[in-house]
Amino acid sequence: QISWQDCDYFENYGTLKLHLEMLSDKPRTEAYKKAFEVYCRHTKDKVVLDIGCGTGILSMFAATVGQAAKVYAVEASDIAHYTKSLVDKNGLGEQITVIEGEMENIVLPEKVDLIISEWMGTMLLFEFMIETVILGRDKCLKEDGVIWPSEAQLYLAPCSAQSVYQAKVKAWDNVYGYDFSSLREEAVKEFFYKPIYNHNLSEEDCLAEETCILKLNMKNVQIQDLEKIDKDFSFLVKKSGPLHGFCSWFSVGFSHPDSDSPTVVLSTGPKHSQTHWHQHLFMLDEPLSVAPDNEVTGRITLIRNTEWRRHLTVIIQGQVFKSVNKKRIQSFHKVFPLWM
Ligand code: SAH
Repeated sequence: QISWQDCDYFENYGTLKLHLEMLSDKPRTEAYKKAFEVYCRHTKDKVVLDIGCGTGILSMFAATVGQAAKVYAVEASDIAHYTKSLVDKNGLGEQITVIEGEMENIVLPEKVDLIISEWMGTMLLFEFMIETVILGRDKCLKEDGVIWPSEAQLYLAPCSAQSVYQAKVKAWDNVYGYDFSSLREEAVKEFFYKPIYNHNLSEEDCLAEETCILKLNMKNVQIQDLEKIDKDFSFLVKKSGPLHGFCSWFSVGFSHPDSDSPTVVLSTGPKHSQTHWHQHLFMLDEPLSVAPDNEVTGRITLIRNTEWRRHLTVIIQGQVFKSVNKKRIQSFHKVFPLWM
């Protein structure tokens, strides 16, 4: 039995809360605007499709900054009622056509030169709106058309998270002078069972350079490529510390094949301004102690839920080696549902 939980999903996007959160996220929103600034020579007089337009902000960038001739702005949630009036109010009713409904059911009167969409979620893929974008691409994009973002990358890094560990686990050691430490195991189960999705990772807490665990080319990624993703990793530890777990984040790039301008990048990583995605923290049950030149090797697997199609499971497994003699110190294996 397959479920997309569309009622809950579109209900969430039908109110202003999430839209305000996204619009307030400047690195996010300005990256799309910048893409239209940088490539406006190539978007001028073109036909654009905005998949999941929400309040219509990206369509407005396309029409004004990008000077597109025509923008089809598709939105399934009730926010679409307001989008039409926002478009009119800003004098863009001629250029932007708001279409209410699910992209999957919509037929456009013509094929488009450019598709824009902001579909990214926790661990890049959560919510799997990317499936809607892929279907929209295959249905509506001209053969030589462009899709923004054009590429997406997912990263992983081993990290310390002392304050999280203190607040959720060590806190039980001394509760108003009493020893509650027997609850530690239960606390680990309860608090570290799922990833902590709104973690703000500081650069100092990264114990090694991040590694790319997934790279998608939006022009040719297929839905079936996303069912199971497997990637081996090997981190060379650069500083000592308790390794509490792993952090993940993503970046997306906007490029145009007819332009030499460098790719416009939106990164949600710790070296960039914080976005509403933050970083995602996968806590191990026990901290492992690592030191410079140790090697953390292993594998991360992302498995899309076969029943709850917007969900996935992340498996992180591996071991720490002392690099000199390759003696294994500790190993780990953990399964994280996001969120089922
Ligand atoms: N483009 C807007 C909103 C991005 S959030 C912005 O950048 O601010 C993603 C939006 O896509 C939500 O409003 C959601 O309701 C919509 N959406 C998701 N799946 C969709 C589908 N299958 N058909 C139409 N709209 C969809």
